[in-house]
Amino acid sequence: MNDLYEILGVDKNASTNEIKKSYRKIAMKYHPDKNPGNAAAEQKFKEAAEAYAVLKDDQKRGQYDQFGHAGVGMGDQGGGGFGFSGFGGGIDLSDALRIFMDGFGGGGFGGFEDLFGGGRQRRQVRKARDMRITLPLTLAEIQQGIEKTVKVNRAEKCETCDGSGAKPGTSPSSCRHCGGSGQVRQMSRTIFGQSVVVQECPVCHGTGEMIEKRCSSCGGDGSIRKTVSIKINVPAGVSAGNYMTLRGQGNQGGAGVLPGDLVVFFDEKEDRYFARHGNDIFIEALISFSQAALGDEIEVPTLDGRATLKIPAGIQAGTILRMRKKGLPELNGSAHGDQLVRIQLETPGKLTAHEKSLLKELAGSDQQKTRFQKVNL
Ligand SMILES: [Zn+2]
Ligand SMILES: [Zn+2]
Repeated sequence: MNDLYEILGVDKNASTNEIKKSYRKIAMKYHPDKNPGNAAAEQKFKEAAEAYAVLKDDQKRGQYDQFGHAGVGMGDQGGGGFGFSGFGGGIDLSDALRIFMDGFGGGGFGGFEDLFGGGRQRRQVRKARDMRITLPLTLAEIQQGIEKTVKVNRAEKCETCDGSGAKPGTSPSSCRHCGGSGQVRQMSRTIFGQSVVVQECPVCHGTGEMIEKRCSSCGGDGSIRKTVSIKINVPAGVSAGNYMTLRGQGNQGGAGVLPGDLVVFFDEKEDRYFARHGNDIFIEALISFSQAALGDEIEVPTLDGRATLKIPAGIQAGTILRMRKKGLPELNGSAHGDQLVRIQLETPGKLTAHEKSLLKELAGSDQQKTRFQKVNL
């Protein structure tokens, strides 16, 4: 795990204000809204949020300075310590976004402490589960960028009980696990000694209430599965493995539960002709000896229709000809790949009598003698 000061590009003695400024700059640069589908940027955005969450807080910063990542429950040392247990091994994107909004007056879901339980015992925000789907794309779709509609089977709020999970007309009783307080106390041993942690009741999730009679439509879940159509704007130039996070488009929870995210992974369909290498695409053209010797103009398939390619006279097998900007655009950039056409010679299998006599005439010329050269191994 990297040094938190290094992640934010600040000095060990930086003031809280300097830290905030630097975090803001980095977070703006790598914000997922500005870098759709860019996994590296998302990683940087999350790292910066994680670092900022520690360094903006004097107490946590002190512990970090003294004990390193273990002091704030990050890294491999077994989290826990200061209610940062959710932190070890990185945070997820929605947490990072919340830290970002928190830092810059976005309001929204309440404080950082809501999520990580740092001292103040407010209710945690519950979130429905994220979903992942894979979206296969053709190279032509990747070249142009495309709006796709996908069908997703996700949890939707139950309309019968409006997400409460209780049978309409019945009222809930108080939770037997926590006695209605919504909280449970737990002793926790950390490297700094023993501490009492007050946690949200795992049975009622902090509501203090329990459903007496379950809703018959959803069985008490507050949500039911439905197939919905979702539009996805695929930016041009994506690669297999790139992904996009559609916030709030994953599973929808019952009452008081934030919707999960839908994470769309892009994949590339195998193409009949083209092989991709970065933003360039490759194709092989099998031409005849006479085309190679005399030169020709041929029609070559490209991702957006056919295009003319000039073959210079005397071209050798293996030569690669470049068709500029016929490849794929750079994701979020202005560069554009090319289409590369590798020339191969195809020897005809069957000849007509006339072709045979023409070739025999050619075979008599001086240029048709065998030559040898060293093999390049
Ligand atoms: Zn409870
Ligand atoms: Zn229901």
